[in-house]
Amino acid sequence: MDLKKISFLATGNEIIEGEVQDTNGQYFASTLHDKGANIFQHVHVSDDKSEICTALRYLLEHSDVVIITGGLGPTSDDNTRFAVSEITGSELKFDEHSWRMIQERFALFNLKAVESNRQQALFPAGADIYPNENGSAPACHLEWKGKHIFMLPGPPRECRPIFDARVMKVLGELNFFDKHERFQWITMGLSEGEIAEEIDAMAKPHGFETGYRWSYPYLVIKVIAKNNTVDREALSKIDARLDDYCVSRDRRDAFEVLSDIMKDHAETVYLIDEVNGEPASPLITHPNIVSAEKDKIPEKGHVFIVSAVPKISKEMKPGSITFSCEGFIDGKRVYQHQYVVPLRGAEIIHSARAYTAWQLGRYILTPLI
Ligand code: ATP
Ligand code: MG
Repeated sequence: MDLKKISFLATGNEIIEGEVQDTNGQYFASTLHDKGANIFQHVHVSDDKSEICTALRYLLEHSDVVIITGGLGPTSDDNTRFAVSEITGSELKFDEHSWRMIQERFALFNLKAVESNRQQALFPAGADIYPNENGSAPACHLEWKGKHIFMLPGPPRECRPIFDARVMKVLGELNFFDKHERFQWITMGLSEGEIAEEIDAMAKPHGFETGYRWSYPYLVIKVIAKNNTVDREALSKIDARLDDYCVSRDRRDAFEVLSDIMKDHAETVYLIDEVNGEPASPLITHPNIVSAEKDKIPEKGHVFIVSAVPKISKEMKPGSITFSCEGFIDGKRVYQHQYVVPLRGAEIIHSARAYTAWQLGRYILTPLI
């Protein structure tokens, strides 16, 4: 049986005009895709109520779930709730509890909710209302004629937590996800052709499907086990093969991983950049990662040296480049790593930065293991 379909409706003139990118849609879709959901369409419309109505009518006709973002604010161009009410024929009801929450949130910032904010407490009758921890507009879920409509606030920091905690839960319970299990590795330093052949040989006999995708400077490797038939032993062999090259086993890139590691690492790390030929922009920016010079290496604490041969300059000839790094604690070397990658041109600086973030994170974790 085909899985039921999910659509996205992003509202706002700023999206239509290209001022803001629909990163919400990308986040929702990729999160759902990882769960094997069946994604139908992404539609973008302006703030205009009739535009929202037209799109919503169409998406409700052709899919089972419509996730709407934006247009829940207090102003006259915030029309989402009115469009939903019109299309579904569900009357808007004033929710006292939401109104109190909105007022409390304003009070938190020494502000006062004004009359126009009251419309943010209007919800279609029967809707399940979701509080918004990071903003004033609550979200909601309305079931209508066997279809599901979610209304979420536009700002990513407001709608993502609600999506993760509420929408994903509801869709899981309603069997919108397939029964496959998906595993992925964000890797650096592997050659796609070689590793694909090797991983395929390890995966295919155990019924896994595989996928490979460049997302420069990373190679993303995916393994899918159909219908919950995961051969754990085969999977752990694949995992062990990729471990030395693995940046993360979720979607995080090297910078996100490093920033998470640094949350638990209060000490300063001195970073010595032997990658850039000339004074250049810092490889990493973080309050606890401080640039240092090679001839003034601190004797105490964490010191990390990253270098490249040849050094990166404006005019680089194609060939290959060797990145290496060394990590010291109180003058003692505790970590080192090296790898060679193709050098195509000046964009190698992105590789250098990602390499530095990735290895710096590994070095910080090493002594703790
Ligand atoms: P508010 O109470 O802030 O008005 P809202 O729910 O009405 O919330 P919008 O006014 O539509 O949301 O959007 C607020 C901001 O959120 C936009 O200016 C934009 O920066 C961001 N935003 C809206 N929709 C998206 C989207 N689909 N992807 C990424 N960012 C978005
Ligand atoms: Mg708006």
